[in-house]
Amino acid sequence: MIQNELKKLGLSEINDGTSTGSNWFSNGEIIESYSPVDGKLIGKVKTTTKEDYEKTIASAQEAFKTWRTTPAPLRGEIVRQFGDKLRANKAELGKLVSYEMGKSYQEGLGEVQEMIDICDFAVGQSRQLYGLTMHSERPGHRMYEQYHPLGIVGVISAFNFPVAVWSWNAALAWICGDVVIWKPSEKTPLCGVACQKLIQEVLKENNLPEGISCLVNGDYKVGEFMSQDKRIPLVSATGSTRMGKILAKEVAGRLGTSLLELGGNNAIIVTPDADIKMTVIGAVFGAVGTAGQRCTSTRRLIIHESMYDKVKDAIVAAYGQLKIGNPLDEKMHVGPLIDKDAVKAYQNALVKVKEQGGNILVEGGVLEGADYESGCYVKPAIAEVENHYEIVQHETFAPILYFIKYSGDVENALEIQNGVAQGLSSAIMTNNLREAEKFLSAGGSDCGIANVNIGTSGAEIGGAFGGEKETGGGRESGSDSWKIYMRRQTNTINYTTNLPLAQGIKFDL
Ligand code: NAD
Repeated sequence: MIQNELKKLGLSEINDGTSTGSNWFSNGEIIESYSPVDGKLIGKVKTTTKEDYEKTIASAQEAFKTWRTTPAPLRGEIVRQFGDKLRANKAELGKLVSYEMGKSYQEGLGEVQEMIDICDFAVGQSRQLYGLTMHSERPGHRMYEQYHPLGIVGVISAFNFPVAVWSWNAALAWICGDVVIWKPSEKTPLCGVACQKLIQEVLKENNLPEGISCLVNGDYKVGEFMSQDKRIPLVSATGSTRMGKILAKEVAGRLGTSLLELGGNNAIIVTPDADIKMTVIGAVFGAVGTAGQRCTSTRRLIIHESMYDKVKDAIVAAYGQLKIGNPLDEKMHVGPLIDKDAVKAYQNALVKVKEQGGNILVEGGVLEGADYESGCYVKPAIAEVENHYEIVQHETFAPILYFIKYSGDVENALEIQNGVAQGLSSAIMTNNLREAEKFLSAGGSDCGIANVNIGTSGAEIGGAFGGEKETGGGRESGSDSWKIYMRRQTNTINYTTNLPLAQGIKFDL
């Protein structure tokens, strides 16, 4: 289905799993990558052995010596060229993302666009790695701070954004003077190889060391090489809260830094002043887009009792219009889940919803037959529930939407919204200024992302992205997220012939 795209991306030889150069050492077991779209084998990749990993680290360490002293705007120029490389390969890479992960082609292209956008952002940022200047308390002294590169940044990414999350980290880490070792999800390894090939072309064209960008492949065992390795001062990990809790302990145990982007349990509050049309679009796209496999997918709709029936009828009717099928076909709204394990998790969640007292409004189920051969296509479901149900408290990475009714004022809705362990994305639909401001206030949403009259799903790269509580607290992408990729140094310079001590301490010899 995507032979031409694989060829253009230089992946046609990937069929025996052998590393294709590109500073990628992989001689371990074979991972076969099957598409959830049609169940067909796309290609094979060999995993990284411990020996391969040591070679990777050596290559990264060597490259860091050159890269850390390359002026930041020149590092930005390399990232600019990478952005251009992505522009030239957008259609092919977007299609590979869509076919290997199962999201729509539009979303695959959107993911590559996000990579291009972060490259543009990073180019500008490369001239703005600002520190402050302070006034010293001592005469004839100058004091300021500067930011220096950290070293090797490890990036561990999830299957659902197989390329964008890496680029959010890598583009900023590179302009900051770091080198990057990336472990993509074992469920989308070919996306990783494709990106590594593109950046290696840029490095080669500029005679720069390959180790500026390194790729390792495999499952959690290879991830553990990184979390346990004190040669990696920062590990940026995106994935489940379960993974984050294990990884954070490992990294903290060696006093390294972890940047965590973990699970969400995102809600839209629908107040009596909500615009119904906007609510329906925001909620339905948020719940079924990417088959409910975005960290920002809408899981809960918290609806005021006065609006409940109207919203329910409109959304249930919209679900009746959804077309489920091949995500490369633009007419489809909902593609497949990533694999059969995800289908099982979806089915188990629906059983639990019923057991725990939920009322199913739109029945789910697994689709079979022609066009659904991969066994990964499921029907988006809706259930009326209460927020305290164990299953509602948990992130199920599938298109299951929960309706929860509230009465009284917006504080009651906020209590429900904040009453989960996760804190990623949140939204309110209202034309009432007081409600909107309350939602955004210190006593409002406790999430890292809080939107007014926009759904929970998706974000622009200009803002800092991430969430609180069990979402992990990390921030990536825009605003001042770059700072985590650097070490801060405070410098004090004495240009007198005396040596006065701070705090006026006397020490005469
Ligand atoms: P996952 O936790 O199964 O795997 C994520 C990555 O972590 C993979 O590369 C995996 O190999 C690696 N890994 C797993 N255990 C590890 C360990 N002990 N040590 C080191 N590495 C380990 O997640 P997934 O199924 O690929 O992705 C879905 C999850 O990711 C959802 O919970 C979703 O909400 C979350 N996610 C969060 C964000 C965000 O920005 N907050 C973005 C995308 C996805």
